[in-house]
Amino acid sequence: MGTQKTTLLIIGGGPGGYVAAIRAAQLGIQTTLVEGGNLGGTCLNIGCIPSKALIHAADAYHQAHHFMGDSTLGIHVEGARIDIGQTVRWKDGIVARLTGGVGALLKKHGVKVVKGWATIVDGKTVDVDLGKGDAEPTRIQCEHLLLASGSVELGLPGMPFGGKVISSKQALSPDQIPKKLVVVGAGYIGLELGLVYRKLGADVTVVEAQDRILPLYDEELTKPVAASLLRLGVQVLLGCKVQGLSSAHEGVRILDAAGRESVLDADQVLVAIGRAPHTHGWGLEKLMLEMQGRSLKVDDQCRTSMRNVWAIGDLTGEPMLAHRAMAQGELVAEVIAGKSRHFAPTAIAAVCYTDPEVVVAGLSPHEATKAGLDCISASFPFAANGRAMTLESTDGFVRVVARRDNHLIVGWQAVGAGVSELAAAFGQSLEMGACLEDVALTIHAHPTLGEAVQEAAMRALGHALHI
Ligand code: FAD
Ligand code: NAD
Repeated sequence: MGTQKTTLLIIGGGPGGYVAAIRAAQLGIQTTLVEGGNLGGTCLNIGCIPSKALIHAADAYHQAHHFMGDSTLGIHVEGARIDIGQTVRWKDGIVARLTGGVGALLKKHGVKVVKGWATIVDGKTVDVDLGKGDAEPTRIQCEHLLLASGSVELGLPGMPFGGKVISSKQALSPDQIPKKLVVVGAGYIGLELGLVYRKLGADVTVVEAQDRILPLYDEELTKPVAASLLRLGVQVLLGCKVQGLSSAHEGVRILDAAGRESVLDADQVLVAIGRAPHTHGWGLEKLMLEMQGRSLKVDDQCRTSMRNVWAIGDLTGEPMLAHRAMAQGELVAEVIAGKSRHFAPTAIAAVCYTDPEVVVAGLSPHEATKAGLDCISASFPFAANGRAMTLESTDGFVRVVARRDNHLIVGWQAVGAGVSELAAAFGQSLEMGACLEDVALTIHAHPTLGEAVQEAAMRALGHALHI
């Protein structure tokens, strides 16, 4: 067995692992990255990017259909047709460009990329199966081991993936659009992809165990999304539990809150009930690292309970978001290089790309109260924003939460078309410790959705101008 040596060995080439590799190499650390699948991980291959590509395509198709029936804007479209094969090829093209770009960046920085599945031997030794039949695995020894193996989708007991039961991975590469799609879970994936399939023509029913959609967010914020689902004809069944496929596999058995069982016809069933850290099947248990629930426990420098073994990204639990993984990856490389860094963000913004979009950063009014803070909060509706009117998207609002005593902003929330782009402004104001006055006195360009951010801050101060 050939043995290689490296200073830093990273397992997993997703946004956590590849960013750590680039930064470590920039800092002069000899780095090897092992990836069994494709560079870019879940995010670039079967997550963030492909889902947003399909959301865009579905929106465009839906818009074209809209113009066949509604000529408010004076636009008439005679007919709209979708070639789903071409749509998927276009999406795959974006994925290929981005994953190819990651490969080029790693090469440029001198990171050694090993394509194969890693199995941990001990905290300094990893075997890599290069997938060459009977050939022996390659052994790599390192001073620092960084674990960035991501997460895997959860399945439903008694309804394993396969046949008509699909995960987000298959849902992102459809051969055709099913006539009837049942989506289990009204969280991020269920709603983002449920809306895609609805806009592409499927009859979509979303089954959610809790009593409301997107239970992660506060109810006021999700109301415009619920209204839009209704308008678009997505059936949402709340407080319902999926029991399994019916005996002839033609549908899904569900149990409602009152204990009544029924069967929903389904050509496909998309199970989107969450993801779990990828901790099994690659020897991780041998290290007997301290866990926190299902995730690896790390400190604020991404150290695990074993010296010089580090972990980042989805493997370390919630929030399972690509930008958190990247931030941890950059940080851990700097810590290994001897810099003094701690992972203590004021906030990690989260966006749900539904129609309309939802963005949150920091504390909601309820969370602020629970944290013992005396806060004021105010919202500004897009119905009073000129830019929103020109975009025909006046649903939704921006809300700010700030301390009553010194006006320090502790949270932002927004729902509306295009609000994902407000995540940057929200994150910056929180990270820089902005007060309501800072935002209220910043001249915001007109006409922009961002003016609603300024107006929300003004309203919290008692002097909104446009409402
Ligand atoms: P991953 O991206 O999962 O990468 C882990 C990598 O490790 C994989 O490439 C895997 O092949 C490799 N690996 C695992 N074990 C081994 C081994 N033993 N040997 C070699 N290689 C191994 N997040 C957002 O912030 N915004 C979004 O819009 C968003 N949309 C999403 C949409 C979908 C459908 C899904 C599923 C997820 C989405 N996410 C989104 C979440 C985001 O994809 C993850 O948070 C992010 O990819 C986590 O990065 P990571 O580096 O921790 O792990
Ligand atoms: P999720 O946690 O967002 O939503 C899962 C939903 O399924 C919840 O509403 C939950 O109540 C429901 N549920 C759980 N068990 C159920 C059952 N047996 N029957 C019916 N409903 C059930 O999980 P997800 O949508 O699978 O996404 C996984 C993760 O991927 C997210 O937590 C997020 O970290 C990441 N992601 C992020 C984005 C984004 O940032 N825009 C997009 C997609 C995915």
